Amino acid sequence: MEGPARMAQDRSMWNEEQCWEALERRDRNADGQFYVGVLSTGIYCRPSCTSRRALRKNVRFYATPQEAESAGLRACLRCRPLETQSDPAARIQELCRHVEAHPDDPHDLADLAARAGLSRFHLQRSFKAAVGLTPKQYVEACRVRKLKQSLRTSQDVAEAVYDAGFGSSSRVYERADTRLGMTPNQYRRGGRGVAITYATAESPVGLMMIGATDRGLCFVQFGDSEDALLGALRKEYPAAGIAPMGTPHPVEFRNWIAALTNHLAGNQPRLELPLDIQATAFQMRVWNYLQSIPYGEVQSYGEVAAGIGQPSATRAVARACASNTVAIAIPCHRVIRGTGELGGYRWGLARKRTLIDLERAKRGVCFSLPR
Ligand SMILES: [Zn+2]
Repeated sequence: MEGPARMAQDRSMWNEEQCWEALERRDRNADGQFYVGVLSTGIYCRPSCTSRRALRKNVRFYATPQEAESAGLRACLRCRPLETQSDPAARIQELCRHVEAHPDDPHDLADLAARAGLSRFHLQRSFKAAVGLTPKQYVEACRVRKLKQSLRTSQDVAEAVYDAGFGSSSRVYERADTRLGMTPNQYRRGGRGVAITYATAESPVGLMMIGATDRGLCFVQFGDSEDALLGALRKEYPAAGIAPMGTPHPVEFRNWIAALTNHLAGNQPRLELPLDIQATAFQMRVWNYLQSIPYGEVQSYGEVAAGIGQPSATRAVARACASNTVAIAIPCHRVIRGTGELGGYRWGLARKRTLIDLERAKRGVCFSLPR
């Protein structure tokens, strides 16, 4: 297609010169107004795309992605011009970046919806589907993350609480109780004031230690001895009150262990256990996503990154997997390298392979991973 693009008649007309100027500014407001094709690469983009700028003689403008496609161009993988047109995922992704950058803004639902160009209802629903949290929970998760960062450096808890956008310390204590698992003071002091009880159980991949607060599991890990496992638990929560579970174990705890063992034996594909763990907003998204990978299946770090809407965050996804403190309950063993290699596992590759093979055998999948 040659010459200036035909622009939609129902909005203000953009001539070629205006398109070019908007492109030079990488003007986000121009996104959706026109699309930019580069003849030398065969790719078309949104005006705000951050990929390298083309020579003007190779650039053509199109009113719609369809026009660009019919000129033989392919959608850019970086700015995903098709998604922004129809799929709210990219808008939600941008919204997440915005909230992360400004955790202390009020971010009420109406503002967020307007920013994403979606109705409040639509935003609420698609946000939850894409991120695993409601927008409100996400805003809080970002604040909690900022709070955790400032708690590590700040002398003054109250100040850090206000600084993270919570407004009043009673509110953060109330929220943090469910979101952090521990209150800010407890978190700052490595779990001081938190009572954790633990027990061990045999599993197909060796000794398993399960630690819990009265709200849920905070530790599920494998090791070679109870001493080593207890060491790992103490390292995770250095100031918590840690004690062996009394016998008989409380009924909830017995149920949690039974669920974990049934799951490991392949008799309970879906596992839903209350967790009492600490997470950054990013970890929370990764971990929520991991819980959606079905029993017996694996995905690559790249697929998980794409799945949470951050395709370039592969390494950060791998780090989030490696920092999981509750094995199996958050099935980080189901994530492997795109090449089919196992990647890493906090509790050793042999255990990871056994877990994957076990799940596949139960699912009747009869191929195995390269060794
Ligand atoms: Zn692009």
